[in-house]
Amino acid sequence: MYFLEALKLRSKLFFILIIITIGLIMVGIMGAININSMKKNLDSLYFGSLLPVIELNGIVEAYHGNMYNTVYKAKNGDISQSDAEFEIKSAIVKANEEWKSYESHFKRYEEVGYVEYTASEIKNTNEYLEKMLKAISDGHNIQNLSIDNFEKTVEHIHQVVDKLISYEIEIAKYERKKFLQMYDSMMIKVGSILIIIILGIVVISFYVFKSIQKDQTMLEIATKKLKNANKRLENASYTDSLTGLYNRRYFNLVYERELRRAKRSNSFITFMMLDIDYFKQYNDTYGHIEGDNALKSVAKTLKSVLKRPSDFVFRLGGEEFGILMAETCELNSIKLAQAICDSVRMSAIKHEGSKVNEFMTISVGVACCIADEALNEEVLITKADEMLYRAKESGRDRYEITSDISEATTL
Ligand code: GH3
Ligand code: MG
Ligand code: MG
Repeated sequence: MYFLEALKLRSKLFFILIIITIGLIMVGIMGAININSMKKNLDSLYFGSLLPVIELNGIVEAYHGNMYNTVYKAKNGDISQSDAEFEIKSAIVKANEEWKSYESHFKRYEEVGYVEYTASEIKNTNEYLEKMLKAISDGHNIQNLSIDNFEKTVEHIHQVVDKLISYEIEIAKYERKKFLQMYDSMMIKVGSILIIIILGIVVISFYVFKSIQKDQTMLEIATKKLKNANKRLENASYTDSLTGLYNRRYFNLVYERELRRAKRSNSFITFMMLDIDYFKQYNDTYGHIEGDNALKSVAKTLKSVLKRPSDFVFRLGGEEFGILMAETCELNSIKLAQAICDSVRMSAIKHEGSKVNEFMTISVGVACCIADEALNEEVLITKADEMLYRAKESGRDRYEITSDISEATTL
């Protein structure tokens, strides 16, 4: 069944269709052959046995039926001579016709001898009757005829034909028995072949469906792999390669979505802008690679502070970060901003170039408000940016927060 594996799904289904069609054709041919042989058997039963018996009975009837009675009646003077003549003639014609028809059927080897004998006896009987007719037409009165001879002749032919009838009846019984036996064996044969065909179709169908199932499983695995690959690709396109945080592209997507959600539920939304203090000097002091390491370290610190699934931390570019939080009130936003500043400072990244601390610090601008329909999309960013600027201006390593978005709402 290896070749099945190589077929495409459509070809597999086509294959199974062909197998079923071949099966049905075979069943049809089998049926036709058997019906034909049954017809032949019925024919041989009818034409070989039953019909001959009817014809032979016709001969007996012709000689022994009407003609017999007619002759008696004529002898007693109950009917006219001409009526008797007519009946005898009719009997001869009928007997000849029936015999001719009987002779036309197939004869078995063993019955040929007796059939020939019967033919000669019928001929003799007819000759006797012809003579009787001639005598009547020659003016002899039927009442003077010897009834003994007539009776003997008719009885004799009756016995001869009866024997042939018995033989044909025996043959008919034999043919019927043979036919019934043949019918039984034919039913067994047809049943067996049908079972074989059905089993064949079932086995082949089983393999085809197994192969289809295998294909489907492989397809499902491939689809799953493809989905995972797509997911990884999507994640990669939304992730900042240096820090592992979400990138600006993802920020654009999430910011819009979260803002809409907050507007619908009229709930708090907080946006924070973060910028490392004196990072230019850090690079200048420790080099760009150390600068990158410091960025990674700050990212890790931010992630450790913001643990809720609804908190999003982004690297917006350079040494600037963004934090988006849903359902966080002003007080909690303050607590988190302070925690961020403290955590970055306490991560103790040595920063000799900084003018505010011996360790690296960060400034945070926070905008927090309850979102409503009137809230402008840009206002949170603008406000957070303003607050960041204020934090820088007022000494760095701190946060500044506003919940006043009224001016910006009218933008
Ligand atoms: P301020 O406290 O006012 O923010 O001072 P600052 O020196 O941080 O000033 P500014 O934000 O303008 O400087 C940003 C510096 O960050 C400039 C650049 O050298 C550095 N920087 C930006 N992106 C990267 C980066 O991917 N890796 C490294 N190592 N440095 C970066
Ligand atoms: Mg900056
Ligand atoms: Mg900076």
